[in-house]
Amino acid sequence: MTLTYVITGASRGLGLEFVRQISSQGHTVYALARNPEASKGLQSLIDGKNVFAVKLDANSEKSIKEAVDEININVPGGIDILINNAGIGCDASVNVENATKQEYMRIFETNVCGVSDITQAFLPLLRKRDTKKILNISSVLGSISATETANPASVKPPYCVSKAALNMLTKMFANHLADEKFIVYASHPGWVKTDMGGDSAPVEQTDSIAGMLKVLDSVTSKDNGEYYNYTGEKFTW
Ligand code: NDP
Repeated sequence: MTLTYVITGASRGLGLEFVRQISSQGHTVYALARNPEASKGLQSLIDGKNVFAVKLDANSEKSIKEAVDEININVPGGIDILINNAGIGCDASVNVENATKQEYMRIFETNVCGVSDITQAFLPLLRKRDTKKILNISSVLGSISATETANPASVKPPYCVSKAALNMLTKMFANHLADEKFIVYASHPGWVKTDMGGDSAPVEQTDSIAGMLKVLDSVTSKDNGEYYNYTGEKFTW
C-alpha cells in the first residue's frame, strides 16, 4: 500500500535520508525544510511524483500553518505518517553550571514547542486516514533511566532536558490520542554520522533510517506511547 509521509527537517542528515529511503519504497513524501531551495540533496530527490518539498520552520506558527494548508490542498484525503525529525543540539561545552536560560529556551523552542505545534497542526490531516502514526525523533540522551550510563549528567543539559521533555510530550500525545487508535512513539536514531552527530559517530545514516523504518512499519496500537532504539529494542524512559 502506498502511504503519504510528512517529514520535518528534511534538508540534510537523518531527515534527508528518511526522504531518500521512504520515496525509494514508492511512498509519497512531503519533505519539510526551512529552506528547501538551499538543500542540494533534497532538490535532487524532488520529482513532482513521489517527493514534494514544502517550506516549514518549526519555530514559526505561521510557517507551520502555511505548510499544513499547502499539503491539505495537495492531499485532501489526508496523510498517513508524521515524522517529527527536526531538532537542534547545543555545544558540548555547555554544562549544568554554565547553561543559560537563553540556551534552554532556544533548544526548547525547536525540540519541544516545535514538535507540539507541528503535531497539533497536522492532526486534522492524520485523522482523515486509518494509519495515524506519529514518530518523534528523540535521543537516548533524553532517557532519565539511562543517564548514569549514556548521558554524563553535566554535559549538554539543554539538549538532554529537551529530549526528556519530548519523551513526556510523546507519552502525553499517545495517551490523548489512544482512543482514536493513533500510534505515537519516540525513537532514538543511534549516534549517527550527521552534522549533529559528527564524524566519529559509529552509526551510518543508512543503517539508522533502515532500522527506524523497520520499526515504523511494524508498530501497532500496542506500541502507542513506546520508546524504541533504532535497532528495535524498547528503551526505558
Ligand atoms: P542535523 O543537524 O544533521 O539536521 C537537523 C535538521 O533539523 C536539519 O534539516 C535542520 O534544517 C532541521 N531543523 C533545525 N531547526 C529547524 C527548524 N526550526 N525548523 C525546521 N527544521 C529545522 O541533525 P540530525 O539529522 O543528526 O538529527 C535529526 C534528529 O535526530 C534531531 O531531532 C536530533 O536531535 C536527533 N538525534 C540525532 C542523533 C545523531 O547522532 N545524529 C542522536 C540522537 C538524536 P536546516 O538545514 O534548515 O538547519
